[in-house]
Formats: sequence, C-alpha cells, structure tokens
Amino acid sequence: MADRLLKFLFRDAPVRGEIVRLQQCWQQITAHHRYPAPVMRLLGETTAAAALLAANIKFDGALILQVQGNGPLRLLVVEVRPGMRLRATAKLRDAVAIGEGATLQQLANPDGDARCAITLDPSGRLPGQQPYQGVVPLAGETIAQVLESYLRQSEQVESRLWLAANDRAAAGVLLQKLPREGGGADKPDVDAWDRVGALTRTLGRDELLALAPEQLAHRLYWEERLDHFAPVQPRFECTCSRDRSGRMLLSLGREEADSILAERGEVEITCDFCNARYAFDAVDVGQLFAPGAMSSAEGPVRH
Ligand SMILES: [Zn+2]
Repeated sequence: MADRLLKFLFRDAPVRGEIVRLQQCWQQITAHHRYPAPVMRLLGETTAAAALLAANIKFDGALILQVQGNGPLRLLVVEVRPGMRLRATAKLRDAVAIGEGATLQQLANPDGDARCAITLDPSGRLPGQQPYQGVVPLAGETIAQVLESYLRQSEQVESRLWLAANDRAAAGVLLQKLPREGGGADKPDVDAWDRVGALTRTLGRDELLALAPEQLAHRLYWEERLDHFAPVQPRFECTCSRDRSGRMLLSLGREEADSILAERGEVEITCDFCNARYAFDAVDVGQLFAPGAMSSAEGPVRH
C-alpha cells in the first residue's frame, strides 16, 4: 500500500513516534483542484499533520483542522474521520496573485490575527452537544510550528513535527516525549529526546516524501530499538451527498433558491472537497421546501 501511517515506540527511550506518507489519497484529494505550489504544499503538510494528530489520540469521531486565513488563502480545511478517511480543501481569494515562494504568513496571515482551529467532533454527537475545539494563533514560519504549539498547549507534551508535501505526495513525522513513569530506579535515558530529535533533523524533504514509513523509520533510527504497531492505511473519502446538499439549499432559504432557479433554471451545488455536483430543478426545490419535508433546523448531520 502506498498510503500508510506507522506508529512506533522507542523501546529504550520515553519517546513515541508516527510517520505518515500519503500518495494515492493525496492525489485524489487534489485531483479536481489546481492550487498554486505554495498552497499545494501547505494543504499537503496540513493533511499529513491532521492524519498524525488523529492517529495520536484515542477518540471516536472526526478531527477537523481549519486555517482561517486573511490573505490570499481564505480557508483551509482537513477532515479525518474514523478509519483514517481523509478529505481536504483550500479556498483562495479571487484575483490575488500567489508568488512561487509565498510563506505561510504571506499566504494566510498578513494581518497577523489568523487562527488555526482543531475540532474533535465525536461520533453520534447529540443535538446541542458542542464539539471540543482548540484554537492557536497562526504564529510561526510553518504549519508544523503552529501545530507544535497546539500540541504543547492541548496535550502538555513536548512534540516535534516534520512535514513536507508536493503535488505527488504528502508526508510527516511526529515525535512526542512521554512522561517518565515516576520514581523508578532504572537509570533514565536523559539524552533520548535530544538524540532522537537530532536523528530526525537529518531527514531531508525529498527523503520524507519518497520513502515508505517503515524504510524511513529504519533509515533514521537503525541504531535504536523500535516497537512497531500495525500500519494503517489512510484513504480519501468524501462525505458529501445529495441529501446534505439539499440541507444546504434549505439553509439558503426559499427566496434565494427561487431567485437562482429563475436565473439559471436549476440550483447546482458543487462539493468543495471532491467536486461532485448536485443539481436541483424547480420540482426538487418545491419538494425540498414543502411542509413536512426534512428540516434545516437539525443542521448538517455528521456520522
Ligand atoms: Zn464531496
């Protein structure tokens, strides 16, 4: 399998790690979009990071990582659902040029007040129940730095992230320093965190993008003893449907729907993630808004 996420523990050091590499699933995510190279890179790095974060927590539900930008990048969303099912999209402001070397701050945060939000939306969430959300400022040169500070804040665990992406693959490494179990007489490996970090810093972008997680773990940590967990396979999956698009249309309101119908003969809703198109003609719209039809008050349903 070309797409995989590997978790491992250092047997002799209080450090745990994860490596992810997305290829087929990353190409499916971006198949219907033509992103400028810096946006492609940022979206890929954020997608790899979201997969690493989702695999790192014990939680039944969706992890949603969002960057609300105030520059050429307006919005970036990555969703990871149970079973490592991923989708992601980026929205750009129209008619804003993006230079080849645009940085994270230039892309998303020229005003300095952009935020990155990580939402954990539990499966089977009850109406009125709020998902958990953590928000961090979009401070730093890379999304890896932004998310390292999120992990420090939310998990109180020292964490390091390495991320890379291009148009073919997206990949990342996450290391976390585990708390020492207290009071043991065994000699603590005080250098372990620094040593493992130094080994990982030798990693080049090209290597990270090209190698399978197992190969990478072996190349970096061949002198360490690792315990591997069975790898999981991330895959692309969109959760859009005609039903959900109908609910979006309901939330627009009858007046708006009728005015689009009058202008174009149908209302077409295109999924931002997978580009699927859902068309509603006058009969569909009439049924949707008929008394007793599905209610918009429930809001989007997540499974
Ligand atoms: Zn879709």
